[in-house]
Amino acid sequence: MKIEEFDKIKELYDESILELTKEDTADLFKYLDKPIQWKSNRTRRTFYASDATRCERQLFYSVSGEKETNPSIGPKQLKIFALGDAIHEGISERYKKVGGWQFYEEVPGEIHIPKAEPHENDFLLHYRVDGILDRFAGDKDIMGIDADRMILEFKSIADFPYTTGKNKKGDIYWFGAKDVPKYDHFAQLQLGMYGESVKYGLLHYYNKNNSEEAIHVLKLNETFVHDLIQRMWEVMDRIARGELPERPFKAYPNKGKTALQKTKKEGEKTFKSDWHCLYCNYADMCWGLNKTE
Ligand code: SF4
Repeated sequence: MKIEEFDKIKELYDESILELTKEDTADLFKYLDKPIQWKSNRTRRTFYASDATRCERQLFYSVSGEKETNPSIGPKQLKIFALGDAIHEGISERYKKVGGWQFYEEVPGEIHIPKAEPHENDFLLHYRVDGILDRFAGDKDIMGIDADRMILEFKSIADFPYTTGKNKKGDIYWFGAKDVPKYDHFAQLQLGMYGESVKYGLLHYYNKNNSEEAIHVLKLNETFVHDLIQRMWEVMDRIARGELPERPFKAYPNKGKTALQKTKKEGEKTFKSDWHCLYCNYADMCWGLNKTE
């Protein structure tokens, strides 16, 4: 609203809108932000598809049952998840309208590989695909793909990282998910396709800022999936042996060792901390920050 527009209605607003204190608002949000689900105390013993591209050291902490030193799931994240769920429901409804194809929503599965040398345990990974489209009538292909079944993955994301970033000269400095699928989403869908033995997968992006959508069609790449499984299996072996993996990322603790710095200057050079560490739930444990003794 422009200032002159506001000036015209200011008196009306002064009369009709109550002044709230921070405490009044906080008091209500105390109830609104109460989690609706009980936090499970279950210790995870297997992998999930979303682990496939996680830092192996973070995975080690997580699967070993270490308590998060930098928990990120607060009221704000829970609301972001709830919004994502609502968007997914809306997209699912629309896929039910695809003629000649049956849409199966939220299909869970697991990839189990029996123990084999040189691994110390068998391998088990849980996944859940957002949907499966199965042809039951007619010969109408989807997006020109000659297949009778497709795995679907829905992702709702903000304008950044959805949109491709260009500088004033028009040079690309960032590939948005609209044009290039995010690597973790690519890996997750590949695992879903592999688990369901389906050759094609459809990755559907939804921009939360403006409802713009983009679709990528992926072809199963078994070599890629085998490599992912090997990587996770090796982490599992290390957990069994109690061997903490090396840090695959760089970050720079501040002098007091209370937090990670985004950047660090050394002479003329500036070094950037990897964002993986800046947002990691185990950053304090990993980098020895905020030690009490
Ligand atoms: S702080 Fe960085 S290196 Fe350490 S576990 Fe987290 S992401 Fe991995």
